[in-house]
Amino acid sequence: MTLEIVTVPCLSDNYAFLLHDSTTHATAVVDVPDETAVEAELERRGWDLTDILITHHHADHIDGVEALRATTGARVTGAAADSHRLPRLDRAVRDGDDFAIGSAEVRVIEVPGHTVGHVAFHVPQAGAVFTADSLMALGCGRLFEGTAAQMWGSLSKLAALPPATLVCSGHEYTQSNGRFALTIEPENADLLARVGRVAEARAQGRPTVPSTLAEELATNPFLRAGLPGVKAQVGMAGAPDAEVFAEIRRRKDRF
Ligand code: ZN
Ligand code: FE
Repeated sequence: MTLEIVTVPCLSDNYAFLLHDSTTHATAVVDVPDETAVEAELERRGWDLTDILITHHHADHIDGVEALRATTGARVTGAAADSHRLPRLDRAVRDGDDFAIGSAEVRVIEVPGHTVGHVAFHVPQAGAVFTADSLMALGCGRLFEGTAAQMWGSLSKLAALPPATLVCSGHEYTQSNGRFALTIEPENADLLARVGRVAEARAQGRPTVPSTLAEELATNPFLRAGLPGVKAQVGMAGAPDAEVFAEIRRRKDRF
């Protein structure tokens, strides 16, 4: 089995992802900010869409779902908890559920915080997790609905995946996230190096997503809120991890 992941830029700074199993020819898209960009990529590769996976209810992740369902007949999967505000779901899923895309297993991880019904999709055989606006490259989603404690719990679940896992997140926010991250850990050598690589990629118009979980663990201030050095850096030595995370999130909101 060969699984391919394709990053599809949509709108001004969103990403959709295609997951394709070359053995069964099953193809899924994760989020549909804009159906035209996704259709063009499917056409270019000659792939027929079988599944649409939704991470959360925000318009910039679901606006193209109905149009794409209409043209492809793909089956739509999303969070049972949010079924009242998502496009009609053919498959409603909860934390710990698994289902197949072709021969690949997809595991559902509930990651509340940005929204209460946000889910991530982990595909172990692809070594990838689709996180949208939960864990993001050098950042995490804003807390529109959930609490800081919920988001900290969500990030902690994602942090426990294998470090080589590709983190396929929903937006190209990495460069501004990097500027903020440096205010928390100005001397983190891995962070400084990454910020340099990100600037170079953006100058060449290349996406900085996906990243790897190992990179995020080494550089993402939101994942690092439990480290003594980071706690000291924000003046909260000895404070509980979730409170330090909440403080870092508040600072980012004002940044
Ligand atoms: Zn969102
Ligand atoms: Fe978003």
